[in-house]
Amino acid sequence: MSIQFSQGKLQDQERKTIPQQVQCNMQKEAQEAVREVVTEVVEAEVTVKLGREKGQPRQPQSQERTVDWKCGQCGCNDANQFIRDGHYRRELQTGWGLIQNLPVPMLECQCCKHDVACEYTILEKYKRFWMDLSQDAFWSSGCSQSLRDICDRWSATVGHPVGLRTVNERINQLSPLVHRFHHTPFERVPEVIQLDGIWVTITEQGEVVVYDRRNRARHERRGKKMVILVALGFWTENGKEKREIVDWQIAKSEKHEEWEVLLHRLVERGAKAENGLKAVIRDGCGGLGQAVELVYAQSVIDQRCIFRQHQECSRCLPDRTQRRGSSRGKKAIDARSQCRLSS
Ligand SMILES: [Zn+2]
Repeated sequence: MSIQFSQGKLQDQERKTIPQQVQCNMQKEAQEAVREVVTEVVEAEVTVKLGREKGQPRQPQSQERTVDWKCGQCGCNDANQFIRDGHYRRELQTGWGLIQNLPVPMLECQCCKHDVACEYTILEKYKRFWMDLSQDAFWSSGCSQSLRDICDRWSATVGHPVGLRTVNERINQLSPLVHRFHHTPFERVPEVIQLDGIWVTITEQGEVVVYDRRNRARHERRGKKMVILVALGFWTENGKEKREIVDWQIAKSEKHEEWEVLLHRLVERGAKAENGLKAVIRDGCGGLGQAVELVYAQSVIDQRCIFRQHQECSRCLPDRTQRRGSSRGKKAIDARSQCRLSS
């Protein structure tokens, strides 16, 4: 890599082109490194499957070496019948850009001389996009980034347009996993579950049809307020405190009917007093109290969150309530004298 620096202070154009050149070189070097690592890993996988290094003769007469790769023709899965058979070249679109000319090893079955279907751990056949981009799609959509933003970023990374459907298909792969998560019994039931609703705006397709800049008919998108009912579990594991979101439910409101769906599911998954659940923590909002009473009755401790009580208590927030001067503020001031928490 050679970059021409001038003796004096960098001029306007140079201030732009030099960093660009550096970044371009970095990407090239990174792509080269990625190719090397991927090549090394797939070669290592072949060596393990075959049980022999490159150049080492196979032992067709020895005990069968059963592997999970099999011949596409005769179905043989004895690695002692397989031999290395050169490479094919493929492309791979990754978060570092397009990796070209990636050599992928091929194997041949000696029973029928056909190809062995090799399924590499880190390289899926017929998948143009590598797993780092799939992970990016999950994370970005999880962080509320729009499909279009993800597509734009991917397109810039791989150097050609990426369709909305490509990214959407990947995100949709999560839904069976989410369904399974919601219905898998707890391995360890949390000792305490804290319940809370988080309000968000979810974009959805409206009824009204509008025309975009390219005169295509599109359904108008509009924001809708929804609430994510969240169950946060707390355990002590090997003397360490652990906390994790154990379940959630997207709902229209915080009415008790909505909370009950989540609570019944938690019970179905094993979150009961007899399995170690000791307490449920919640705020005083909506129908949550009623739902907890209906589902858990007296079996666990139903504790209003002390932090929330503090928040609702005027002594903890005297300025805000007093400044507002509303009737609510006045009520809060009255309640201040009765608050057990701040006394
Ligand atoms: Zn075969």
